Amino acid sequence: MKYISTRGQAPKLSFEEALLAGLASDGGLYVPESWPRLSEAMIKSFVTMSFQQVAVEVLHPFMGEDVPRERLQAMVEEAYATFSEDEIAPLTEMGDGHYFLELYHGPTLAFKDVAMQLLARLMDDALIRRGARATIVGATSGDTGGAAIEAFRGREAADVFILFPQGRVSDVQRKQMTTPKDPNVHTLAVEGTFDDCQALVKEMFTDAPFRQDMSLAGVNSINWARVMAQITYYFTAAAKLGAPETPVAFSVPTGNFGDIFAGYVAAQMGLPVAQLMIATNVNDILARTLDSGAYETGEVVATSSPSMDIQVSSNFERLLFELSGRDADRVRALMGSLKQSGRFELSERELHLMRALFAAKRVDADETVTTMRDVLAHHGFQIDPHSAIGVAAAKSAVLAEDVPIVTLATAHPAKFPKAVQEAYATEPDTPQRVVDMLELPEQFTPVANNLADVQALIREKARVG
Ligand SMILES: *Cc1c(COP(=O)(O)O)cnc(C)c1O
Repeated sequence: MKYISTRGQAPKLSFEEALLAGLASDGGLYVPESWPRLSEAMIKSFVTMSFQQVAVEVLHPFMGEDVPRERLQAMVEEAYATFSEDEIAPLTEMGDGHYFLELYHGPTLAFKDVAMQLLARLMDDALIRRGARATIVGATSGDTGGAAIEAFRGREAADVFILFPQGRVSDVQRKQMTTPKDPNVHTLAVEGTFDDCQALVKEMFTDAPFRQDMSLAGVNSINWARVMAQITYYFTAAAKLGAPETPVAFSVPTGNFGDIFAGYVAAQMGLPVAQLMIATNVNDILARTLDSGAYETGEVVATSSPSMDIQVSSNFERLLFELSGRDADRVRALMGSLKQSGRFELSERELHLMRALFAAKRVDADETVTTMRDVLAHHGFQIDPHSAIGVAAAKSAVLAEDVPIVTLATAHPAKFPKAVQEAYATEPDTPQRVVDMLELPEQFTPVANNLADVQALIREKARVG
């Protein structure tokens, strides 16, 4: 399998090369040259397989000869051994065709562990075999950073630098990033928003000499392997609900559009997906796009679902590539216009194609809290604000009769204790490993929202060359 850039001006890469590159050299994102298809019989058989077995079947076609099947199998086993539930991603019924997919049983209590635990192993393995080192640089709105640090801490071939927006992540999120003491972990607190952090990371990747000197590698959802590793649970959940005979809809709490794009890929691979509901908080760029066809950035508003406080959804570029009929020239023009004027417009045809699979719902603060309380009252368990936005959006979905809808529950309530306290007037049930972590001393480096300062810091601390 070869990988091409959405902007058409970067070299074609193999899976492992794309894995280590992250962002393409032309500023685009890597996507597979074609979508592998799984047979109906294969999809049907998933209902009897473990999550790990499904992962191997779903992911191996994207790797081809770069990663032998047995090696993938071993890495998948190791990655998901870090989860506290044997099922990895349990599916809970909520009545009336609604289901809740718990993706938060990994070490940092958010769905990002599902992809990151595997990605770190794939990368470390590739680097060690090449006798190379890499400098992992990533921006986080809260959850990616902790997941990346937890997955990469102590790994031999990589140093990890995580930029987070100071004061805009929860205490638990911050401590997950600032308490690991491994010498290959560096946590940078940027004076700015998540979009600022993301822009800094993008600029470092487009600075060719810096990128080369530091052997930069990215683990944000701009990295294809991140998106890829999230495809698995669309298949496991849908198979439990009767796919491929029954089509299934998904409601996905969305920020950077990575998780929901994995759902789009599952559909391209042959999973009958009835609808993908983009669930957003008041940072609703994607809901506005689906409504008007204009993708237009606005001010980022801080909410109780900080991992979705985003006004530039990087992975939307991958969908744009698809909607345009894989027209890299058009993607390049639209992304140029976004950079210049903060907006672009989808064509009638692109908007029509998008609306054929996607719906969107903006969920405000009141509705988020109401939904959190409603789930506790009717189902007896607490949920976090991100997952609540997914549940609220699922409730608004208009679907054909008998089509079930699965909400991707992206974080454990213990990850957002303040929001839980506000909604439920009680503390969340916190797993012991989190209680212990909260007591550990923190360690991080404050830095200005300034490319030169951040680069100087990384040059000083990375152990490459
Ligand atoms: C990252 C994250 C999201 C958003 O996922 P994207 O792939 O960026 O759309 C939603 N909820 C939680 C808890 C997250 O950590």
